Amino acid sequence: MNPLPPGSVIGILGGGQLGRMLAVAAAQLGYRCHIYAPDKASVAADVAARFTCAQDDDIEALGKFADGCDVITFEFENVPVASLNATAGRTSLHPPVGALDIAQNRIAEKNFARTHGGTTAPFAEVTDSASLDKAIDDIGAPAILKTIRMGYDGKGQSRIKPGDDLAVHWDAVGHQPCVAEGFVEFIHEFSVILVRGQDGAVRYWDTPHNVHEDGILAKSLLPAPGQIIEQEKAARALAAKMAEAMDYVGVLTCEFFATADGPVFNEMAPRVHNSGHWTIEGAITSQFENHIRAICGLPLGDTGLAADKVEMTNLIGGNTDEWQALLTDPANHLHLYGKTESRPGRKMGHVTKLFF
Ligand code: AMP
Repeated sequence: MNPLPPGSVIGILGGGQLGRMLAVAAAQLGYRCHIYAPDKASVAADVAARFTCAQDDDIEALGKFADGCDVITFEFENVPVASLNATAGRTSLHPPVGALDIAQNRIAEKNFARTHGGTTAPFAEVTDSASLDKAIDDIGAPAILKTIRMGYDGKGQSRIKPGDDLAVHWDAVGHQPCVAEGFVEFIHEFSVILVRGQDGAVRYWDTPHNVHEDGILAKSLLPAPGQIIEQEKAARALAAKMAEAMDYVGVLTCEFFATADGPVFNEMAPRVHNSGHWTIEGAITSQFENHIRAICGLPLGDTGLAADKVEMTNLIGGNTDEWQALLTDPANHLHLYGKTESRPGRKMGHVTKLFF
């Protein structure tokens, strides 16, 4: 493990808030970040040393970008695998392309979890309206229809109730290849957030209890209730097995449902994750800092909890004046992502409160 010296350049594919928080953590360790993103209004570029604004499939621009970076990582899951393969051999890339390949496909992801001993919701592939009818015959309703690729924050999803006209749901997902998933009767939702170093060392943050509204994360709360903590060990073991199998380096997040029959794997994100934003103030080392440490070959920092209780709340769409009221509570740590345009469902910032 050859650690990258301070002053080295970290390339980040994707220009959103995750890239922004990664770039801030990297700067603290003396690194310079180069953001690569297709959108001129990339909030990560505001806090980075360099910015290349180009399309994700522009192989020439990607090659040039790779040549100028000492290591590349990604904050955005939908970078085409072919584009990443085009940078191979020009510089190092963490996490590995294989992890992205699996995470981009909901069916591959569930099969991968099952192969490593995990439980998932019952599911079936849907490619046309006839296979949707058959899938719902087999799985039953309620169920959720999700596009196999490119879905996030509840986008590309349609919730099926018993007796629904399935053609309406097939239209709702734009006739895209989908997975139909049985609806999981969960007690709570939680995520395992781990970091794996280049030497294979794994550390876990405390497990957040995640509360979603309309398919979008609303809050992460720590410590998690007992029903989650009881399932933590099995969920962590699965996430670690998957990380090892992928020869993973960096932060990996796996989302789970806590059910009466144990943890049910929902999906994985091969990157830092919204349910780990609380770690900036709520843990001794944040997910962003440890991701940078891992990809640069540095020793990992302590992931321990830094307070008795932590509450992270997302600031979603709409009310952009909220920040003023939030700052009247001196215990609030406010993070605004610098997005100029607020839209319903868009993540504009978050606030973390620690309790002692
Ligand atoms: P996802 O995009 O898969 O993370 O789904 C977003 C949210 O929708 C999850 O965090 C859950 O709150 C809910 N959800 C997704 N899939 C299921 C399922 N099979 N059963 C119950 N709730 C689900």
